[in-house]
Amino acid sequence: MEKLIFEMSSAGRKGYSLPKLDVPEADLKSLIPPGLSRNTEAGLPEVSEFDCVRHFTRLSQLNYSLDTTFYPLGSCTMKYNPKINEKLAGLEEFAALHPYQPDSSIQGTLEILYETEQALSKICGMDGFTLQPAAGAHGELTGMLIVRAYHTSKGNPRKKVIIPDSAHGTNPASAALCGYEVVTVRSDKAGRVDLEALKALVDEEVAVLMLTNPNTLGLFEKNVKEIAGLLHKAGALLYLDGANLNALLGITRPGDMGFDIVHVNLHKTFSTPHGGGGPGSGPVGVKGHLLDYLPVPRIRQKRNKLTLDYDPKKTIGRVRAFYGNIGIIIRAYCYIRSLGWAGLKDAALDAILSANYLKARLKAHYQPAVDDEPCMHECVFSGKDKKEYGVRTLDIAKRLLDYGFYAPTVYFPLIVEEAIMVEPTETESKETLDAFIEAMIKIAEEAKTDPALLREAPHTTPVRRLDEVLAARELNLRWKSSGA
Ligand SMILES: *Cc1c(COP(=O)(O)O)cnc(C)c1O
Repeated sequence: MEKLIFEMSSAGRKGYSLPKLDVPEADLKSLIPPGLSRNTEAGLPEVSEFDCVRHFTRLSQLNYSLDTTFYPLGSCTMKYNPKINEKLAGLEEFAALHPYQPDSSIQGTLEILYETEQALSKICGMDGFTLQPAAGAHGELTGMLIVRAYHTSKGNPRKKVIIPDSAHGTNPASAALCGYEVVTVRSDKAGRVDLEALKALVDEEVAVLMLTNPNTLGLFEKNVKEIAGLLHKAGALLYLDGANLNALLGITRPGDMGFDIVHVNLHKTFSTPHGGGGPGSGPVGVKGHLLDYLPVPRIRQKRNKLTLDYDPKKTIGRVRAFYGNIGIIIRAYCYIRSLGWAGLKDAALDAILSANYLKARLKAHYQPAVDDEPCMHECVFSGKDKKEYGVRTLDIAKRLLDYGFYAPTVYFPLIVEEAIMVEPTETESKETLDAFIEAMIKIAEEAKTDPALLREAPHTTPVRRLDEVLAARELNLRWKSSGA
């Protein structure tokens, strides 16, 4: 176990060697206002430079990362992020921009943002995009604010938002934040929105339905046209949670299916790193009737110059400082431009192929949540048949760590008992998928022959099983010296 750097400290040891002061110390002290200088030592660890470098390098190697191993986290699209995109986003011309620079001095960057909006509009079949939202959930909130503004301008903001029971938890949270009452529509046996149940829920008080397609079971919602018809007839809107766009790229477009608003996750579909809390980017696209409500600033093209427009009349206003997470947007722009339409389509098709390969090879060992048809870009299994050995999905996930794999998403979607959700993505080789499949098969065997091995897993990681409740309730990340 790696010691804390404070525990490695030895009084008087130094990590540097500087020449002696060649000005009187008293002169320096007089430069610092009295209230701001400390009277006691800072209490920092005293280690050599080598101790320090090696300590942090060792710590970094305890981390699991996409750069070292497969990351099959369902619903998260942990695909490969080409390093060239990192390099381009890190160019000084972008990285050293100041957010208060005049528009005239950032024409190149504005052009990239403008073209990214156009590209996303084309990919999604929408009429305009904003790049402001900082993540998917923030995109949803922006979308709900647009829905509310739209209905308010028609005289009634309406009261309800319909959300399927398979939806990501951020959907009801975003709707509730905008003051809407959340109404749940159940899924049918095949795992899709139950049309009959939906018909009974749609009325003139419904503002919007938030749909995820492919849904969180990894299934394509086939009835979007009917669903759109039902809502539009009642004057309501249809919103797409486009976090799963990776499965649709170049094959079909939300705008063509009848969606009025969509958010996409650049940090999932368009190959920018995520996890660990961001930064992300959740652009929102709309059809023509909602363009006026998009947040400001809007990028406008006027006589060959790009400018930022802060005052379209019906805008919902600002949702974020400045122009969005530009570094993330540049990475997505590079990804889109380097793959082109055909490349994006290949990415989607390969992601779907990988998921179906995995499902086909694992289904004799794990029960698929829905088995009578192919899945899209991810597949969901249920660990409920392992309960007879006293093994739960959590134990399977922990045991995978011993085999060197990150655990898939577990216990989501909520409508699948003991859910295990695997998203292999298009960027893993067949050898990697096979190695993962072999590990999963071995674990299924171990569940029968040695369930205790699973219940006590992981055995090989730097820390064993954590008390997750305590870690969440009493989060304590700070070291305090006993003296301070
Ligand atoms: C990831 C995800 C979200 C939320 O996106 P964040 O960027 O994490 O806020 C919403 N819906 C679905 C289906 C997702 O997979």
